[in-house]
Amino acid sequence: MYISLLLDTEDLIAPEADDVAMWCADILHEERAPATFCVVGENARLLKSRKRSDVIASLTRHDIGLHSDQHSVHPTIMEYLRDKGWDDGIAEVVRRESPGLASIREVFGKSPSTFAGPGATWGPQIHAAMRQLGIPSVMYALTAIPGGRNIHRFAGTRSYPRRDFTDMNDGSYRNPVEWRTNFDINLKALKAFQDAGYHWAGVFMGHPTHILHENFWDFDNLAYGKTVPRAQWVPPKRISDADLKVALANFRTTARTLRNLPGIEIKAIAEMNAIYDRASTAPVDRSGQESVWERIHGDLAKISEWPILEKQFDFSKIAATTRGQLHTLETESLVAG
Ligand SMILES: [Zn+2]
Repeated sequence: MYISLLLDTEDLIAPEADDVAMWCADILHEERAPATFCVVGENARLLKSRKRSDVIASLTRHDIGLHSDQHSVHPTIMEYLRDKGWDDGIAEVVRRESPGLASIREVFGKSPSTFAGPGATWGPQIHAAMRQLGIPSVMYALTAIPGGRNIHRFAGTRSYPRRDFTDMNDGSYRNPVEWRTNFDINLKALKAFQDAGYHWAGVFMGHPTHILHENFWDFDNLAYGKTVPRAQWVPPKRISDADLKVALANFRTTARTLRNLPGIEIKAIAEMNAIYDRASTAPVDRSGQESVWERIHGDLAKISEWPILEKQFDFSKIAATTRGQLHTLETESLVAG
C-alpha cells in the first residue's frame, strides 16, 4: 500500500510558524519520507516578502499543494459557493483561487500537485475549476466510490477521499502519552486499510503552526464567521521551547516509524498522480452513485459545522449541486503488471 504524508502550511499571523514548517520539512527529508506541503497562496507571498528563502528551499525539496489562496478569511470557499450554480461556481473558484496558484508557481518554482481545501471545505465546482487551472487532483474529497478502491475521479478530476485519511493530531506531538496513544490508533487504522486491500491511504501529519501553538492561528480572529480586521488579529499562544523540542522529536519518530512500516511505501501526491495517470477509468453506475450519496450528505452536514463557516451554515445548494454531479464519478484502476 502507498501512503501520502500531508501537511498544511497556513499561518497568516505568526512568522515563527515558518520556522516550524522548515524544521518539519527538514526532518521528513532526513528521514527519507517525502511529503506534500499544502501551502496557502497568501503564505507563499508572505514567505517571499519575509525573505525566507531558507524555508522555501526546505519546502521545495518536497511536493507542494495549494491550500487555497486565503484559507479562513471570509468569505471562505463554501461561503462564496453557497448560492452558486455549476458554471458560475466554477468561474468563482477560478477567479478567487488562481492568485494562489500563481503564487505557488512563482515562489516554489513548480505547480501544485493538488488542491487541499481549508477546514474541511467541500464544493463540487472546485473539482471542475482545478481541471481548468491545471491542478491535477483534489484532496480530502467527500466523494467516494463503492467498494474498497479509494482514489477516483469526480467532475473529471482525480480525488483523494477524506475518509481514507488518518490524522496524527498535531496538538498531541508535544505530549508523549497523548501522542503515543494517538499514534497507535493511527497505526491500527493504516493496518486495517492495508488488510482491506486499499492501494492508498493518506496520513495527515499536521499543521506546523499547530505543532508550535496551543490554539489555531485563525480561531480567535476568523472562526464561525468572525471578521476581526487583519491589523487587529490576535496571535496564537506559543508552547514552550522545551515542549517544542519534545514535539519535533515525536514528529521525527512518527516519520521514521511510517517510513519503516512493512508493506507500505511513502509517495508524495505528485508521485501518486503519476502512478494513477496510468490507471484506466470506468463510470460508476446509477445504483453505485445512489449507494454513496447518504454518506456524502452526512459528511457534508458534519463539515458544515466546522469553524471555517458561519454558524447555521446553509449547505443545501452545495448538496444539491454535488448530487447533480454524481454521474461524473469514475473509478480509476491500475492494470496489473
Ligand atoms: Zn488549513
